[in-house]
Amino acid sequence: MPTTVISHQAEAPVKESHHALKVAGLLLISIGLLGILVASVGADYISPVLTGLGGTLVLTMGALLYIWQSRQYKSPAEQNQGMWQRQATSRGASAWVIGFVLTGFYVLLYWFPDTLQGLIQAMEPLSQWLRNRPSDQWFLYGTFYTLAVLVMGVYALLKYRTSRYHIIRTLSVMFFQLGFAFLLPGLLLLFNKPEYYFSYFWPLKYDYLFPGTVDYLIRDGAALGVFMVFWGAVFSFLATPVLTYFYGKRWYCSWVCGCGGLAETAGDPYRHLSDKSRKAWRWEVAIIYPILGFVILTTLFLWINSWSEGRLLGNLSGGFAQTYGFFIGAMFSGVIGVGFYPLMGNRVWCRFGCPMAAYLGLLQKYFSRFRITTNGGQCISCGNCSTYCEMGIDVRWYAQQGKPIIRASCVGCGICAHVCPRGVLKLENGPQENRYAGSPLIRRDDLRILS
Ligand code: SF4
Ligand code: SF4
Repeated sequence: MPTTVISHQAEAPVKESHHALKVAGLLLISIGLLGILVASVGADYISPVLTGLGGTLVLTMGALLYIWQSRQYKSPAEQNQGMWQRQATSRGASAWVIGFVLTGFYVLLYWFPDTLQGLIQAMEPLSQWLRNRPSDQWFLYGTFYTLAVLVMGVYALLKYRTSRYHIIRTLSVMFFQLGFAFLLPGLLLLFNKPEYYFSYFWPLKYDYLFPGTVDYLIRDGAALGVFMVFWGAVFSFLATPVLTYFYGKRWYCSWVCGCGGLAETAGDPYRHLSDKSRKAWRWEVAIIYPILGFVILTTLFLWINSWSEGRLLGNLSGGFAQTYGFFIGAMFSGVIGVGFYPLMGNRVWCRFGCPMAAYLGLLQKYFSRFRITTNGGQCISCGNCSTYCEMGIDVRWYAQQGKPIIRASCVGCGICAHVCPRGVLKLENGPQENRYAGSPLIRRDDLRILS
């Protein structure tokens, strides 16, 4: 008994210091946000670099301090505690405010970039250093996006630190976002080469195989431009089917893609908000495949138009491309896809809108070795797996019957397996034969002990 008293006494100051550091983190976050706000509205009166770039740095330090303090002392079992109680992660008032701010930022970014001039100017030194050219709204966006993936990547690393799979997967998305989607495109511009994102492919980056972009890359990029077109085409039509055959769509959606990277890091606190109903699944199928069809048709029309020099389709193909760019490329992927994280979960775009996810999903369902096997006899029907499936798959339904999960939408994030207290679920890349065979399940009625 005295030992317990002493240890409790010793714990108290430690807890107090954790609390103090958390408060310090929150204070830095508030100062950083204030700086960003001042840069947005007061660039004419005070240096936006000082307030905007300085504010971003202070915000980053505060967020890292807060995340470190709030995650490192929690056990794996405690990491999701209170998700449905906290306002910000259970569609409460603060979730609506975050959703409103995110959506508003995307609206300004796409259609009213002049309103972001203060923040754009704030990034000027960074833009000059990396790209040797003035900052613009897309550089501002890229910087914020990359910071969000890196900072919340630290959150995911701490939250899932007991799992080697999740550590490597999180490091992978952080690496691809920082290296392939931020630094490399900037360095290409620095050396006067075309800006190119080597980790995005058609049909997600739909214009990469449009004739206008292909012409531009070959003309302005010379040998490197030809390589870029070759790289994009090979990844879209050859590497994607081959890699998906071996690993399922997870190789891209949960390891490489920038949209998936943001969803798995900044979006992680919202993953349980995905709708698991059958109605949501019907919407998913009814929207995502037509979008894939739309982008295929648009690309074909543009090439037909280009080959016929406009004689066959006139302005029709251009209209298709503009419509797709506005409604899907801007509104859906940005405004709704990220802006609605706090209300509809972190994979709204990947689940309902992304044509790459649809393409990968078809390959995964009909032409892949990937599956999640379920040792159904061990399942206690707790429902953790279904709750934290960001793609809205009712994983428990499969587990209860010992059926393997082979779904087009599964992005292979592996969180269902991580949160399962019974080790029921396993992500596997086995042979295609017997892929749908379930595990032998012992039911109560099968035992017939008394008969
Ligand atoms: S089924 Fe599991 S691995 Fe697939 S998306 Fe859902 S949580 Fe991730
Ligand atoms: S988390 Fe595991 S035990 Fe719980 S319902 Fe899912 S498969 Fe069953």
